Amino acid sequence: MEKILKNAIKCNYCGDIIISRHTHDLVSCKCGKCSVDGGNDYLRRLYTNSLDDYEELSEVIEVNDELNINDLKKANLTKK
Ligand SMILES: [Zn+2]
Repeated sequence: MEKILKNAIKCNYCGDIIISRHTHDLVSCKCGKCSVDGGNDYLRRLYTNSLDDYEELSEVIEVNDELNINDLKKANLTKK
């Protein structure tokens, strides 16, 4: 399965970089042509014309199972 580390896009019209940080955190860019939603749970994109409206900036990693996710969390905790 995939684990979303960062849910973000850059609007190709206004250059705004928008990040969805929570599951129901719908964020729109300055010009309103693009939006992101879903936080770290799912990648939802809203755009006006086509996929070319934005540049994908999300960071997603492939993990094998829940155990690996827990290991990752531990690793992140020890870094701080
Ligand atoms: Zn925009």
